Amino acid sequence: MSPEALRQQLEYYRDLGIKQIYRRMPIPTDIELPSLVPAGDTLELIRADIGDCTRCRLCKGRNKIVFGDGNPNARLAFVGEGPGADEDEQGLPFVGRAGQLLTQMIEGTSAKEGIPLKRADVYICNVVKCRPPENRTPEPDEMEMCGQFLFRQLSAIKPKAICALGSTAAKAILGGKDGVTKLRGKWHKWNDIPLMVTYHPSYLLRPYNQNAKRESWEDLKKVLHFVYD
Ligand code: SF4
Repeated sequence: MSPEALRQQLEYYRDLGIKQIYRRMPIPTDIELPSLVPAGDTLELIRADIGDCTRCRLCKGRNKIVFGDGNPNARLAFVGEGPGADEDEQGLPFVGRAGQLLTQMIEGTSAKEGIPLKRADVYICNVVKCRPPENRTPEPDEMEMCGQFLFRQLSAIKPKAICALGSTAAKAILGGKDGVTKLRGKWHKWNDIPLMVTYHPSYLLRPYNQNAKRESWEDLKKVLHFVYD
């Protein structure tokens, strides 16, 4: 990409309200980049920037934008793929069956491990803020666009660790092609923040996934002890 084309692309993103480009692309060193994340960025500012967003096609089918929920100073942040029907209805992440399982996993595992932790103590959000039709996987361009808000959220919260739930969230954050079975159980990094990948709770709800359940509990234990010990 020529320096001029890159400058135009960055200005286009800036006009859309995107102040920080995390996309992994080679940046020629002789280019002066536009300003990045606004100083003192907060969840409130990010939510205000999203507004009544129509930046990608997912806006067409949504009822409510599902921004995120939990402690804005959380030491641990969970990131899922996108809202489902219940989330779209209520405007809150992980409130359906998968959400109930996530709550059980967080609170049950921490109680067993002697860590006093409630769901409200962590932060929970998704890569895309609007429900994809028929709960399909978000398209790469939708994740690229909405992911800018996710990255600003994570930068504003600055958790001690991030837990990506499922392959889609892992790929969106880490930028690779590997799925959850390859990535889970090991520490990765996003912007110097340790990141663990584990199964999405909706996958664990399927009856034949006993091994995945056990592995998921192991992953979560690792995360909880790393963050709260
Ligand atoms: S998914 Fe994100 S970028 Fe797309 S319309 Fe919703 S808020 Fe905007």
